[in-house]
Amino acid sequence: MPTYNFSAGPAVMPQPVVAQIQAELPSFHDSQMSIMEISHRSALFDQVINEAEQDLRDLMQIPDNYRVLFFQGGGTLQFTAAPLNLATKHHHIGLLDSGHWASRAADEAQRVNTTVDILGSGAANHFTALPYPEQPVDQQLDYVHLTTNNTIEGTMYTKLPETGRVPLVADMSSNFLGQPYNVRDFGMIFAGAQKNLGPAGLTIVIVRDDLLGHATNLPSMLDYQLFADKRSMFNTPPVFAIYAAGLVLKWLKAQGGLKAIANRNQQKAGLLYDFLDQSKLFTNPVKPADRSTMNVPFVTGDAAVDQAVIAGATEHGLLNLKGHRLVGGMRASLYNAMPQAGVQALVDYLENFEQHNKG
Ligand code: PLP
Repeated sequence: MPTYNFSAGPAVMPQPVVAQIQAELPSFHDSQMSIMEISHRSALFDQVINEAEQDLRDLMQIPDNYRVLFFQGGGTLQFTAAPLNLATKHHHIGLLDSGHWASRAADEAQRVNTTVDILGSGAANHFTALPYPEQPVDQQLDYVHLTTNNTIEGTMYTKLPETGRVPLVADMSSNFLGQPYNVRDFGMIFAGAQKNLGPAGLTIVIVRDDLLGHATNLPSMLDYQLFADKRSMFNTPPVFAIYAAGLVLKWLKAQGGLKAIANRNQQKAGLLYDFLDQSKLFTNPVKPADRSTMNVPFVTGDAAVDQAVIAGATEHGLLNLKGHRLVGGMRASLYNAMPQAGVQALVDYLENFEQHNKG
Protein backbone atom coordinates (compact mmCIF):
# COMPACT_ATOMS: atom_id res chain seq x y z
CA MET A 1 0.00 0.00 0.00
CA PRO A 2 1.48 3.39 -0.94
CA THR A 3 1.62 5.94 1.86
CA TYR A 4 1.12 9.68 1.49
CA ASN A 5 2.30 12.30 3.96
CA PHE A 6 -0.06 15.28 4.32
CA SER A 7 2.01 16.98 7.04
CA ALA A 8 2.01 20.78 7.12
CA GLY A 9 5.74 20.81 7.71
CA PRO A 10 8.33 19.44 7.81
CA ALA A 11 6.59 17.99 4.82
CA VAL A 12 6.85 15.49 1.99
CA MET A 13 9.95 15.78 -0.20
CA PRO A 14 10.12 14.77 -3.88
CA GLN A 15 10.87 11.03 -3.95
CA PRO A 16 13.69 11.28 -6.54
CA VAL A 17 15.42 13.87 -4.36
CA VAL A 18 15.29 11.63 -1.30
CA ALA A 19 16.66 8.76 -3.41
CA GLN A 20 19.51 10.92 -4.70
CA ILE A 21 20.40 12.10 -1.20
CA GLN A 22 20.44 8.52 -0.04
CA ALA A 23 22.64 7.40 -2.92
CA GLU A 24 25.25 10.12 -2.56
CA LEU A 25 25.22 10.45 1.23
CA PRO A 26 28.43 8.42 1.84
CA SER A 27 30.51 10.24 -0.79
CA PHE A 28 29.60 13.61 -2.25
CA HIS A 29 30.82 14.00 -5.85
CA ASP A 30 33.47 11.26 -5.42
CA SER A 31 35.10 13.17 -2.57
CA GLN A 32 34.92 10.14 -0.23
CA MET A 33 33.30 12.57 2.23
CA SER A 34 29.65 12.93 3.04
CA ILE A 35 27.97 16.26 2.29
CA MET A 36 27.59 16.40 6.08
CA GLU A 37 31.36 16.31 6.46
CA ILE A 38 32.59 18.90 3.98
CA SER A 39 33.66 22.41 4.85
CA HIS A 40 31.41 25.30 3.99
CA ARG A 41 34.60 27.01 2.76
CA SER A 42 35.37 24.21 0.26
CA ALA A 43 35.08 24.53 -3.51
CA LEU A 44 32.61 21.64 -3.38
CA PHE A 45 30.18 23.57 -1.20
CA ASP A 46 30.77 26.79 -3.08
CA GLN A 47 29.32 25.11 -6.12
CA VAL A 48 26.34 23.81 -4.12
CA ILE A 49 25.33 27.20 -2.73
CA ASN A 50 26.01 29.07 -5.97
CA GLU A 51 23.90 26.66 -8.00
CA ALA A 52 21.11 26.76 -5.41
CA GLU A 53 21.01 30.55 -5.61
CA GLN A 54 21.12 30.57 -9.41
CA ASP A 55 18.39 27.94 -9.71
CA LEU A 56 16.21 29.90 -7.30
CA ARG A 57 16.84 33.08 -9.28
CA ASP A 58 15.91 31.30 -12.52
CA LEU A 59 12.74 29.77 -11.09
CA MET A 60 11.43 32.96 -9.46
CA GLN A 61 12.95 35.32 -12.03
CA ILE A 62 14.57 37.27 -9.21
CA PRO A 63 15.85 40.61 -10.55
CA ASP A 64 19.54 41.52 -10.10
CA ASN A 65 18.77 44.25 -7.57
CA TYR A 66 17.55 41.65 -5.06
CA ARG A 67 19.89 39.69 -2.75
CA VAL A 68 19.25 36.07 -1.90
CA LEU A 69 20.29 35.21 1.67
CA PHE A 70 20.48 31.81 3.34
CA PHE A 71 19.51 32.09 6.99
CA GLN A 72 18.75 29.77 9.91
CA GLY A 73 16.18 30.34 12.65
CA GLY A 74 13.05 29.62 10.59
CA GLY A 75 10.31 32.00 9.56
CA THR A 76 10.04 32.96 13.21
CA LEU A 77 13.47 34.60 13.32
CA GLN A 78 12.45 36.74 10.36
CA PHE A 79 9.54 38.12 12.40
CA THR A 80 12.34 39.79 14.40
CA ALA A 81 14.93 40.33 11.66
CA ALA A 82 12.54 42.06 9.26
CA PRO A 83 11.60 44.93 11.60
CA LEU A 84 15.20 45.28 12.85
CA ASN A 85 16.54 45.60 9.30
CA LEU A 86 13.71 47.33 7.48
CA ALA A 87 11.67 49.35 10.00
CA THR A 88 14.51 51.78 10.60
CA LYS A 89 12.93 55.11 9.70
CA HIS A 90 9.76 55.29 11.77
CA HIS A 91 9.82 51.96 13.63
CA HIS A 92 6.26 51.65 12.45
CA ILE A 93 4.80 48.96 10.19
CA GLY A 94 1.41 47.88 8.89
CA LEU A 95 0.20 44.30 9.01
CA LEU A 96 -2.69 42.34 7.58
CA ASP A 97 -4.06 40.13 10.31
CA SER A 98 -4.83 37.03 8.27
CA GLY A 99 -4.40 34.46 11.04
CA HIS A 100 -2.08 32.84 13.53
CA TRP A 101 1.27 33.45 11.81
CA ALA A 102 0.47 37.06 10.99
CA SER A 103 -0.37 37.65 14.61
CA ARG A 104 2.89 35.97 15.71
CA ALA A 105 4.75 38.33 13.38
CA ALA A 106 3.02 41.33 14.98
CA ASP A 107 4.01 40.13 18.48
CA GLU A 108 7.65 39.73 17.57
CA ALA A 109 7.84 43.12 15.83
CA GLN A 110 6.42 44.76 18.95
CA ARG A 111 9.06 43.03 21.06
CA VAL A 112 11.72 44.97 19.17
CA ASN A 113 9.94 48.27 19.71
CA THR A 114 8.15 48.48 16.40
CA THR A 115 4.64 49.93 16.33
CA VAL A 116 2.28 47.66 14.41
CA ASP A 117 -0.90 49.01 12.78
CA ILE A 118 -3.44 46.34 11.86
CA LEU A 119 -4.60 47.49 8.42
CA GLY A 120 -7.28 44.85 8.08
CA SER A 121 -8.28 41.73 9.99
CA GLY A 122 -9.99 38.45 9.25
CA ALA A 123 -10.78 37.89 12.93
CA ALA A 124 -14.49 38.73 12.58
CA ASN A 125 -15.01 35.94 10.04
CA HIS A 126 -12.67 33.53 11.88
CA PHE A 127 -10.06 34.04 9.15
CA THR A 128 -12.14 32.28 6.50
CA ALA A 129 -11.63 35.24 4.13
CA LEU A 130 -8.52 37.34 3.51
CA PRO A 131 -8.25 40.87 4.92
CA TYR A 132 -7.20 43.82 2.75
CA PRO A 133 -6.37 47.35 3.94
CA GLU A 134 -9.56 49.08 5.01
CA GLN A 135 -8.17 52.51 4.14
CA PRO A 136 -5.44 53.80 1.82
CA VAL A 137 -2.12 52.73 3.33
CA ASP A 138 -0.27 55.43 5.31
CA GLN A 139 2.77 56.20 3.16
CA GLN A 140 4.91 56.83 6.25
CA LEU A 141 4.90 53.17 7.24
CA ASP A 142 8.26 51.42 6.94
CA TYR A 143 6.60 48.40 5.33
CA VAL A 144 3.48 46.24 5.28
CA HIS A 145 3.73 42.64 6.50
CA LEU A 146 1.71 40.06 4.56
CA THR A 147 1.39 36.30 5.08
CA THR A 148 0.86 35.09 1.53
CA ASN A 149 -0.37 31.68 2.63
CA ASN A 150 -2.02 31.01 5.97
CA THR A 151 -0.96 27.49 6.81
CA ILE A 152 -3.45 26.92 9.60
CA GLU A 153 -6.52 28.72 8.22
CA GLY A 154 -6.04 27.56 4.59
CA THR A 155 -6.18 30.93 2.83
CA MET A 156 -3.81 32.28 0.18
CA TYR A 157 -3.30 35.70 -1.41
CA THR A 158 -3.26 35.64 -5.19
CA LYS A 159 -4.33 39.29 -5.49
CA LEU A 160 -1.91 41.42 -3.48
CA PRO A 161 -2.98 44.46 -1.42
CA GLU A 162 -2.26 47.95 -2.76
CA THR A 163 0.39 49.62 -0.61
CA GLY A 164 1.58 52.48 -2.83
CA ARG A 165 5.26 53.21 -2.24
CA VAL A 166 5.35 51.25 1.01
CA PRO A 167 7.27 47.98 0.49
CA LEU A 168 5.45 44.72 0.99
CA VAL A 169 7.25 42.18 3.20
CA ALA A 170 5.92 38.70 2.60
CA ASP A 171 6.04 35.66 4.83
CA MET A 172 5.87 33.05 2.07
CA SER A 173 6.80 30.15 4.34
CA SER A 174 3.99 27.86 3.26
CA ASN A 175 3.54 28.68 -0.44
CA PHE A 176 7.09 29.53 -1.45
CA LEU A 177 7.63 28.14 -4.98
CA GLY A 178 4.07 26.79 -5.09
CA GLN A 179 3.10 29.33 -7.77
CA PRO A 180 4.72 32.33 -9.45
CA TYR A 181 4.64 35.76 -7.79
CA ASN A 182 6.28 38.82 -9.30
CA VAL A 183 9.28 39.42 -7.01
CA ARG A 184 9.21 43.12 -7.97
CA ASP A 185 5.91 43.46 -6.08
CA PHE A 186 7.80 42.87 -2.82
CA GLY A 187 10.50 44.66 -0.85
CA MET A 188 11.33 41.41 0.83
CA ILE A 189 10.22 37.78 0.82
CA PHE A 190 11.12 35.16 3.39
CA ALA A 191 10.31 31.48 3.78
CA GLY A 192 11.34 28.59 5.99
CA ALA A 193 12.40 25.68 3.79
CA GLN A 194 10.55 22.85 5.46
CA LYS A 195 7.34 22.95 3.43
CA ASN A 196 8.10 23.35 -0.26
CA LEU A 197 11.87 23.59 -0.40
CA GLY A 198 13.66 21.05 1.76
CA PRO A 199 14.58 20.06 5.29
CA ALA A 200 14.06 22.37 8.26
CA GLY A 201 17.04 24.50 9.28
CA LEU A 202 17.20 26.75 6.24
CA THR A 203 15.32 29.98 5.69
CA ILE A 204 15.45 31.97 2.46
CA VAL A 205 15.42 35.78 2.47
CA ILE A 206 15.05 37.70 -0.78
CA VAL A 207 15.51 41.41 -0.22
CA ARG A 208 15.73 44.48 -2.45
CA ASP A 209 19.13 46.21 -2.42
CA ASP A 210 17.90 49.68 -1.53
CA LEU A 211 16.29 48.40 1.69
CA LEU A 212 19.65 47.15 2.99
CA GLY A 213 22.20 49.05 5.03
CA HIS A 214 19.87 51.37 6.96
CA ALA A 215 20.16 49.55 10.28
CA THR A 216 23.10 50.07 12.59
CA ASN A 217 24.61 47.92 15.32
CA LEU A 218 22.44 44.90 14.71
CA PRO A 219 23.50 41.57 16.21
CA SER A 220 25.56 40.02 13.41
CA MET A 221 23.31 36.98 13.02
CA LEU A 222 20.33 39.25 12.27
CA ASP A 223 22.10 41.64 9.93
CA TYR A 224 20.93 41.31 6.30
CA GLN A 225 23.69 43.60 5.02
CA LEU A 226 26.34 41.45 6.68
CA PHE A 227 24.81 38.27 5.30
CA ALA A 228 24.70 39.84 1.84
CA ASP A 229 28.35 40.96 2.11
CA LYS A 230 29.48 37.55 3.32
CA ARG A 231 27.39 35.59 0.79
CA SER A 232 25.47 33.98 3.70
CA MET A 233 28.72 32.57 5.10
CA PHE A 234 29.37 34.92 7.99
CA ASN A 235 29.24 31.77 10.09
CA THR A 236 28.69 28.09 9.27
CA PRO A 237 25.54 27.82 7.16
CA PRO A 238 23.27 24.74 7.28
CA VAL A 239 25.29 22.86 4.68
CA PHE A 240 23.11 19.76 4.43
CA ALA A 241 19.84 21.73 4.23
CA ILE A 242 21.21 23.98 1.49
CA TYR A 243 22.42 20.94 -0.46
CA ALA A 244 19.00 19.24 -0.17
CA ALA A 245 17.17 22.45 -1.11
CA GLY A 246 19.46 22.73 -4.14
CA LEU A 247 18.33 19.30 -5.30
CA VAL A 248 14.67 20.24 -4.82
CA LEU A 249 15.22 23.37 -6.95
CA LYS A 250 16.68 21.22 -9.74
CA TRP A 251 13.72 18.86 -9.43
CA LEU A 252 11.37 21.85 -9.68
CA LYS A 253 13.09 23.03 -12.85
CA ALA A 254 12.70 19.54 -14.30
CA GLN A 255 8.95 19.71 -13.49
CA GLY A 256 8.70 22.70 -15.83
CA GLY A 257 9.12 25.52 -13.30
CA LEU A 258 6.63 27.50 -11.28
CA LYS A 259 3.85 27.92 -13.84
CA ALA A 260 3.74 24.21 -14.47
CA ILE A 261 3.81 23.33 -10.78
CA ALA A 262 1.12 25.95 -10.06
CA ASN A 263 -1.15 24.29 -12.63
CA ARG A 264 -0.61 20.94 -11.02
CA ASN A 265 -1.20 22.41 -7.56
CA GLN A 266 -4.48 23.94 -8.77
CA GLN A 267 -5.62 20.60 -10.11
CA LYS A 268 -4.67 18.72 -6.96
CA ALA A 269 -6.36 21.19 -4.62
CA GLY A 270 -9.35 21.37 -6.98
CA LEU A 271 -9.90 17.63 -6.66
CA LEU A 272 -10.18 17.91 -2.88
CA TYR A 273 -12.22 21.15 -2.82
CA ASP A 274 -14.68 19.77 -5.39
CA PHE A 275 -15.22 16.74 -3.22
CA LEU A 276 -15.60 18.77 -0.01
CA ASP A 277 -18.06 21.19 -1.63
CA GLN A 278 -20.48 18.44 -2.63
CA SER A 279 -20.01 16.40 0.55
CA LYS A 280 -22.78 16.29 3.14
CA LEU A 281 -20.37 15.25 5.87
CA PHE A 282 -17.24 17.35 5.34
CA THR A 283 -16.93 21.12 4.96
CA ASN A 284 -14.20 23.60 4.21
CA PRO A 285 -15.28 26.99 5.54
CA VAL A 286 -12.97 29.19 3.43
CA LYS A 287 -14.33 31.67 0.88
CA PRO A 288 -13.67 29.97 -2.49
CA ALA A 289 -11.64 32.86 -4.00
CA ASP A 290 -9.32 32.90 -0.97
CA ARG A 291 -8.64 29.19 -0.74
CA SER A 292 -5.08 27.93 -0.48
CA THR A 293 -3.72 25.38 -2.94
CA MET A 294 -1.25 24.27 -0.26
CA ASN A 295 -3.21 23.67 2.96
CA VAL A 296 -6.81 22.49 3.01
CA PRO A 297 -8.50 22.39 6.45
CA PHE A 298 -11.85 20.60 6.75
CA VAL A 299 -14.18 19.39 9.49
CA THR A 300 -17.22 17.20 10.05
CA GLY A 301 -18.46 19.32 12.94
CA ASP A 302 -18.17 16.40 15.35
CA ALA A 303 -14.81 15.92 17.08
CA ALA A 304 -15.37 12.17 17.59
CA VAL A 305 -16.10 11.66 13.88
CA ASP A 306 -13.04 13.75 12.98
CA GLN A 307 -10.97 11.42 15.13
CA ALA A 308 -12.39 8.38 13.40
CA VAL A 309 -11.63 9.93 10.01
CA ILE A 310 -8.01 10.52 11.00
CA ALA A 311 -7.54 7.08 12.54
CA GLY A 312 -9.05 5.34 9.48
CA ALA A 313 -6.94 7.47 7.14
CA THR A 314 -3.76 6.43 8.94
CA GLU A 315 -4.73 2.79 8.45
CA HIS A 316 -5.09 3.52 4.74
CA GLY A 317 -1.60 5.05 4.54
CA LEU A 318 -2.90 8.64 4.51
CA LEU A 319 -0.68 10.19 7.16
CA ASN A 320 -0.66 13.33 9.28
CA LEU A 321 -4.15 14.60 8.53
CA LYS A 322 -4.82 15.89 12.02
CA GLY A 323 -5.85 19.55 11.88
CA HIS A 324 -3.97 22.26 13.75
CA ARG A 325 -5.04 22.44 17.39
CA LEU A 326 -6.35 25.99 16.82
CA VAL A 327 -8.95 24.91 14.25
CA GLY A 328 -9.32 21.17 14.94
CA GLY A 329 -10.69 18.75 12.38
CA MET A 330 -8.47 17.69 9.51
CA ARG A 331 -5.93 19.44 7.36
CA ALA A 332 -4.42 18.11 4.13
CA SER A 333 -1.24 19.85 3.05
CA LEU A 334 -0.71 19.44 -0.67
CA TYR A 335 2.74 20.89 -1.27
CA ASN A 336 4.62 20.56 -4.57
CA ALA A 337 5.94 17.09 -3.77
CA MET A 338 2.48 15.60 -3.07
CA PRO A 339 1.52 13.58 -6.14
CA GLN A 340 -1.97 13.79 -7.64
CA ALA A 341 -2.37 10.09 -6.77
CA GLY A 342 -2.07 11.02 -3.10
CA VAL A 343 -4.92 13.52 -3.32
CA GLN A 344 -7.02 11.04 -5.28
CA ALA A 345 -6.39 8.38 -2.62
CA LEU A 346 -7.51 10.86 0.05
CA VAL A 347 -10.69 11.79 -1.84
CA ASP A 348 -11.50 8.10 -2.41
CA TYR A 349 -11.02 7.39 1.27
CA LEU A 350 -13.18 10.34 2.40
CA GLU A 351 -15.90 9.40 -0.09
CA ASN A 352 -15.91 5.87 1.20
CA PHE A 353 -15.96 7.06 4.83
CA GLU A 354 -18.96 9.26 4.08
CA GLN A 355 -20.81 6.40 2.35
CA HIS A 356 -20.41 4.25 5.46
CA ASN A 357 -21.38 6.98 7.89
CA LYS A 358 -24.81 7.88 6.63
CA GLY A 359 -26.65 7.79 9.96
N1 PLP B 1 5.03 31.51 8.89
C1 PLP B 1 4.19 30.58 8.41
C2 PLP B 1 3.19 30.98 7.37
C3 PLP B 1 4.24 29.27 8.87
O1 PLP B 1 3.41 28.34 8.39
C4 PLP B 1 5.19 28.92 9.86
C5 PLP B 1 5.29 27.55 10.38
O2 PLP B 1 4.55 26.67 10.08
C6 PLP B 1 6.04 29.94 10.34
C7 PLP B 1 5.94 31.21 9.83
C8 PLP B 1 7.05 29.65 11.40
O3 PLP B 1 8.08 28.94 10.83
P1 PLP B 1 9.31 28.33 11.61
O4 PLP B 1 8.81 27.19 12.42
O5 PLP B 1 10.22 27.94 10.48
O6 PLP B 1 9.91 29.41 12.44
